[in-house]
Amino acid sequence: MSKIIAANWKMNLSLNEAEKLASEVVKGNSGSNDIILFPPYVYLWTVKEIIKGSRISLGAQNCHFENSGAFTGNVSASMLKGIGCGYVIVGHSECRQHHNESDELINKKAKSAITNGLIPLICIGEKLEEREQGKHKEIVSEQIRITLADIDVSKIILAYEPVWAIGTGKTATSAEISEMHEFISSLVKKVPLLYGGSVNEKNYHEILDIPNVDGLLIGGASLQIEKFSKIISY
Ligand code: PEP
Repeated sequence: MSKIIAANWKMNLSLNEAEKLASEVVKGNSGSNDIILFPPYVYLWTVKEIIKGSRISLGAQNCHFENSGAFTGNVSASMLKGIGCGYVIVGHSECRQHHNESDELINKKAKSAITNGLIPLICIGEKLEEREQGKHKEIVSEQIRITLADIDVSKIILAYEPVWAIGTGKTATSAEISEMHEFISSLVKKVPLLYGGSVNEKNYHEILDIPNVDGLLIGGASLQIEKFSKIISY
C-alpha cells in the first residue's frame, strides 16, 4: 500500500534553496508513495511550477478560516486553492503554541479548507507534561472531538504528532506510536493517519511498518535531500 509522505519545510530555505530542493525531490521520486511538499507561502508558486507534471502535490502550512477581508498577514484557503494547492496543514503544534491556535479555531480552518476544495492535514498530539501525567489519550480524544466537529472525515488527513517529539530528535517508541495510532483509528474510522515527530532516514522504515501508520509528516529531515529521498523511496 502506498504511503503519504508530507514534507513540512516550516520557515526555512532561501528561494534558491527551495527551488533546488523541489527539483531534487522531483528527480529523486521514483517510488509509488504520495509526496506532498509544504513550502513557506512565498515559495508556493515557484514550487508548483517545478513539480508540475510529477506525482508530487503541493500544500500550505496554514490558512485563515475566512475567504477574504481585513486580516493583515493572513492567507485564505480559497487563495491557496486558486494558486494550485491541494492541501493545507492546520493545527500544527507550533501554530497552537506560538499563535495560540485553539481546537475551535482549527475546526473552522479545516472547514474552510474543505469548503474550498483543499484537503486539511489536521495535527493532534499531546505535550510532554500531559504524557507524563498519563493524559495523552484524554488530550488527543478531546482534540479530535473539537477539531473534527461537523467535519466529513472522508475529506481530511490526520497526523498524530506528540509535541515532545517535534524537532527534538526524540522519536516516540514504536510501542507508543502503535498504541496511539490504534487508539486514534478506533475513534476516527477510515482516515489516513500520519505520524510526525523527529522522523529521519534511520527510523522511517520501522515507523512506516507499524499498523495504522499511513504515512509520515516530516520537518527537519525533509530539508535534506539525501535523507528525504531515502524516506520517499520506502
Ligand atoms: C513537523 O514539523 O511536523 C515535524 C514533525 O518536525 P520534525 O520532523 O523536525 O520533528
